Amino acid sequence: MANRKRARKQNNVESEYYVDDTCIDCGTCYWMAPDTFKREGYQSIAYSKIENEQQQMSAQNALLSCPTNSIGAATQMRPSPTLPSLISENVYHLGFHSERSFGGTPYYINDYGGVMIDCPRFNQKTIQHLRERQGLKLQLLTHKDGIADTGQYHREFNTTRIIHIGDQCNKAMNWERYLSGEDDIEIEQNLLAIPTPGHTKGSVCYLYQHKYLFTGDHLCFSRNLGHLIGFKNHCWYSNEKLITSMEKLLNYDFEWILPEHGAPYHASPDKMKNEIETCLNYLKS
Ligand code: SF4
Repeated sequence: MANRKRARKQNNVESEYYVDDTCIDCGTCYWMAPDTFKREGYQSIAYSKIENEQQQMSAQNALLSCPTNSIGAATQMRPSPTLPSLISENVYHLGFHSERSFGGTPYYINDYGGVMIDCPRFNQKTIQHLRERQGLKLQLLTHKDGIADTGQYHREFNTTRIIHIGDQCNKAMNWERYLSGEDDIEIEQNLLAIPTPGHTKGSVCYLYQHKYLFTGDHLCFSRNLGHLIGFKNHCWYSNEKLITSMEKLLNYDFEWILPEHGAPYHASPDKMKNEIETCLNYLKS
């Protein structure tokens, strides 16, 4: 939670929550609690009062997930947070985003002994939540920017850490498993790694149950543009590869896009294919 000595941003409305001037514009609060927070310039502000319990819960979860503790609450009367938040079936948003992954979104699959996709900051609440479910056996990285506190969770749960060899770096040395090549790799039954180089050399999407696609920074829904996008303006490896990797996703059925930045996006498999085509037009424009 925000340090009360830090400067509140001037443009916050008078409400139960506020943002201070340490915000790094990671986007987490305004997709988690869009009725309370919004982007203004290159930071976020609280723009609306809380009107119901759902808004209160979302804002509170955003406060806990802010990677820089830039969100403050005017009152101590806050409800218990509901993190991890259930997305659907046994797939969760873990919350507690880390500044070390620029506020990237971490997910959890309560299956196969517990699977974490990308990584939250190391904290006891998440550890407790994992222990109350199947624990943690696998840590899947979509790319090197999501590593954050992977090492600490690895030591706590003795996990197998998996990243593509293209993203091996000093934060990912001597891990238990490196993926290689550009062909699909079965991690477990109905859990597939799909190498999608472009944003980084070793970017990977993970497909669970032919339904949930964890996309890292390869693909997300842009609320501003109203369609799916790849980060062509934040592409650290190859825009050509980014397009080829996007075309590859037309070969798969899925209903959920779970990105590292931005809100989960749900649509039918047929609509997803149309949306990927729109994304390809955007990338090629
Ligand atoms: S979650 Fe925190 S750092 Fe991210 S946009 Fe909101 S206030 Fe800024």
